[in-house]
Amino acid sequence: MADTGGFLARALESRWFYGLIAVVLVGLFVVSQLRPADFDGRPYGEIEDLSTLAERDDLNVLFILIDTMRADRMGLYGYERDVSPHLDRLASTGIRFSQHQSQSSWTKASMASMWTGLNPARTGISRYMHSLPESAELPSETLKDAGFVTIGLWRNGWVAPNFGFDQGFDAYSRPVPVGLPGQLRREHPAATISGSDANLVESAIEFLRTVDPNDRWFLYLHTMDVHQYVSDETSAIFGTTYSDFYDNAIHWTDRNLGRLLRELGERGMLERTLVVVTSDHGEAFKEHGREGHARDLYGEVTEIPLLVSLPFKLKEGLEVAAPTSNIDVWPTLFDLIGIEGPADADGRSLVTLIEQSARGEVPPPGPPQFAQLDRGWGRPEQDSEPIFSVTENGYRAHLDPKGALELYDLERDPREQEDISETNPELGAVLRSRIEEYEASSQIPWVADEVELDGLMLHQLKALGYHLE
Ligand SMILES: [Zn+2]
Repeated sequence: MADTGGFLARALESRWFYGLIAVVLVGLFVVSQLRPADFDGRPYGEIEDLSTLAERDDLNVLFILIDTMRADRMGLYGYERDVSPHLDRLASTGIRFSQHQSQSSWTKASMASMWTGLNPARTGISRYMHSLPESAELPSETLKDAGFVTIGLWRNGWVAPNFGFDQGFDAYSRPVPVGLPGQLRREHPAATISGSDANLVESAIEFLRTVDPNDRWFLYLHTMDVHQYVSDETSAIFGTTYSDFYDNAIHWTDRNLGRLLRELGERGMLERTLVVVTSDHGEAFKEHGREGHARDLYGEVTEIPLLVSLPFKLKEGLEVAAPTSNIDVWPTLFDLIGIEGPADADGRSLVTLIEQSARGEVPPPGPPQFAQLDRGWGRPEQDSEPIFSVTENGYRAHLDPKGALELYDLERDPREQEDISETNPELGAVLRSRIEEYEASSQIPWVADEVELDGLMLHQLKALGYHLE
């Protein structure tokens, strides 16, 4: 003991001893920097590496559709509340499109456009009994033909198999829930569709655990709790108004998706997966007097997120600020992974736009963007009542079934509060003619099927809060 004490005393007086400690500390610091700070082990890359993705034969696609997610309620789009930390983090090393628009404000019409890359006038899917026919070519079919395992997990009845959305999927199912936990059910009596997005994520994780690591896969996950304003008590932190409940649900959904991303990361799958996050429409909180969606086409129900996370991390998240549309999503994804998609899409690949944005270039003005909604979508006895919007060069016009036009300057008035159609009749006329051209030139490449909805189906759709008559 005395010898040991003497050694320590001598060591404490030696400058070599302190030098050794310094070396060890520096060494520990270096090692801590080399190890990933979290589950995300993706290497860093540059936008120039985008073109190498098409040569890879191991890339998967995780497609997350957050139903009813308006862009300006997410941190990655500047929302002041911390509702979406996991997705914000994904965006911090990925690509976010900051002026992204859906082509309708009603799930089925919007999803039909997004999957086919066609504007609503060309899909013909505008009423509640319309169904995508066999001749429609969906990404799930293209990817299945290319050898992908194709899985769809969804909770919104408007994308159910009888509406034709199951085409090309090896498995397409609404995860069988164990039911909302008792407390959740008491707190959310309106949440009459059973289960929650936790069931969806559990099913997705189960798939990741069992899929053959040599298989390429396409996993489509369609969440529903934001639509239903459902959250659990630990996420319900923002207050008790409808708008707060919406935020609570976003926080809960983000947390569930965080679990899924962690699972992907821990399995080393993020390095070979394109993760895409988008929505089918937003949600109104009386900005134009209405709540909910599927009634009009203002920004609160059509401006949605689009986030693309690559199999590598960008040092800084890239913002693509030029206007983009949901019909562009699949032409872009097909371009990125080097698979040929349908030839006649209205949408365009955004890869050039991404590259221009990374170089700091101002892209040329894009094509006009259209959105469409048939106000009679839920009432089969009623005549068609289509309304349209066109967005071009920073202006948006809305045309109602009687031909009345509203016009907004989105730069000065992004919330569309001040109709300037009377003071700008020439611009109004130009945008009106755009809509008329859109209607006239569009051709439906197929005839939308019509389906009979049985009682159970009607009951389930009504449970989503839709008012079918
Ligand atoms: Zn929806």
